[in-house]
Amino acid sequence: MSSDDDAHNSEPTSTSDFWADEAARRVAENDRPPVVKGGVSPSGVPHIGNFNEVLRGAFVVRALERRDDIEDEPRQVFTSDDRDPLRRVPDTVLSPEGELVELDAEERDELSEHLGKPYVDVPSPFADTAGAADTWAEHFASFLREDAERLEVPVEFVSNDEMYRAGDFDEAVRTALSKLETSRDVIARHQRTAGEDYVPFMPICAECGRITPTVTSVNIEDETVDYVCDDAELAGEYTVEGCGHRGTATFREGKLPWRFEWPAQWWTLNIGFEPFGKDHAEGSWESGVEIAEQVYGIEPPEPLVYEFFLVDGEKMSASAGNVYTVSGVLRYVEPSVLRYFFALDPKKQRDLSLADIHHLVNDFDRVEDAHYGREEAADETERLYAERVYEDLRAPSDNPTEHEPVRPPYTFAAMVGVAEDDEARLATLRRSGHLPDDPTEAQKRDALRRVELARNWALDYENQYAVRVLDETPDVSFDEETRAAFGELADVVESGASPDEIQNAVFESAREHDLDVGGFFSDGYQLFLGQESGPKLGPLLAALDRDFVVERLRDA
Ligand SMILES: [Zn+2]
Repeated sequence: MSSDDDAHNSEPTSTSDFWADEAARRVAENDRPPVVKGGVSPSGVPHIGNFNEVLRGAFVVRALERRDDIEDEPRQVFTSDDRDPLRRVPDTVLSPEGELVELDAEERDELSEHLGKPYVDVPSPFADTAGAADTWAEHFASFLREDAERLEVPVEFVSNDEMYRAGDFDEAVRTALSKLETSRDVIARHQRTAGEDYVPFMPICAECGRITPTVTSVNIEDETVDYVCDDAELAGEYTVEGCGHRGTATFREGKLPWRFEWPAQWWTLNIGFEPFGKDHAEGSWESGVEIAEQVYGIEPPEPLVYEFFLVDGEKMSASAGNVYTVSGVLRYVEPSVLRYFFALDPKKQRDLSLADIHHLVNDFDRVEDAHYGREEAADETERLYAERVYEDLRAPSDNPTEHEPVRPPYTFAAMVGVAEDDEARLATLRRSGHLPDDPTEAQKRDALRRVELARNWALDYENQYAVRVLDETPDVSFDEETRAAFGELADVVESGASPDEIQNAVFESAREHDLDVGGFFSDGYQLFLGQESGPKLGPLLAALDRDFVVERLRDA
């Protein structure tokens, strides 16, 4: 706790204000198992929205670990609901390299042959690429696994298909089918389209491999159902033609409908907590609770409903091309910054915009500065994140208890990236006060990493920080007063002034020589960039090689 509380005239923030602590408290007080779940149906493109559950779940696991009233070790699982059927042929998919690519007509035709089949039986559009996954399900899951590794979230990935094959769901299927009247009553309350002869099991047709909804009889003793492969309505929108085959399937050769499968996962995997989006809150959560209690005789997990976030002000949509992937975002920010985004209040809708990612990075940097006492927390929320949450934002391999990171301001770092080699970048950072005089190797790595990430951002988005400095002094003749002001500025830069001091010196030299301030700034940009305007001049000059700046100013 900072000693300056009184100066802020505010109450110290209690750690229970962090939403993950509140979630952990509910798990403990309601005696739920400390097992956190998330899950996804592998449709479309694996994107950063899938990490709502992975990362938010991870914060709750850490919060559970901090409690001393929990006996079992907290764990996190994430299910790939990969026995779900392919419902529609997507326009765009993610290539093994993580690029959004459009499918051509031939590829779409090929995929459409597999509509209605479980994702584990749908070939990946990239199956022919060396080293790539064979199936759609595995192609999708491999991204989530790699991203979780990058973010160092120790989550166990579980395949629904493997659970069915291994018989892990046998008891859940048997129970749902044995209590058929109860199952039907619950469903009738929540799903108007379910008819009187509704059976909560969908076999995989032995002939055509599609998931078919029409069960004609149930044999609990043999653990089988008879079915006819009819036309299937998928997601109420797409109809897949059945092949007409009549057959018998075991409880392992099909799947529970989602409304039953979800609570079956809670039961089978012993789940005590699950975050999910608003879509489920208004749909399958309510029926899931009733099925858990009335059919399976278990308590549902403690829920957390999160708001979906927007990207660039809109709903993420692969076909519209506005989809962010974890690896795409990690091209511009450290994993800690991305973890910070997901540590923010899940109930608030947010907009993630890579073009404006410097704002998020600055917010994170302020939390980090406050954590290490380098700056005062600006408000109670920042204080809460600095004191309670910060260590959970760092990856374990980052050694948060030992290693104090160094992160030069993001937009400044983007300009430092003009220098090509590491030594020049480090020299500039040291001179501008953004690196200690005697940095550790880890601190040098942090600083260089920040420069690289910020430079990627500036260049990819071609913003004002993507400076390109003129190699030669431009062929512009400045008047005598301007040249004299440049000379004074050179002295200031040479003396080792900070970015802010250089910025002030620009104003002062202009005034001393009766120059129009705006005009003098423009001349400065002309001299270095060959253009009328640019980023703040003080930080720009501080970000460039000092000898070069001094020489250019005196050369004008
Ligand atoms: Zn069939």
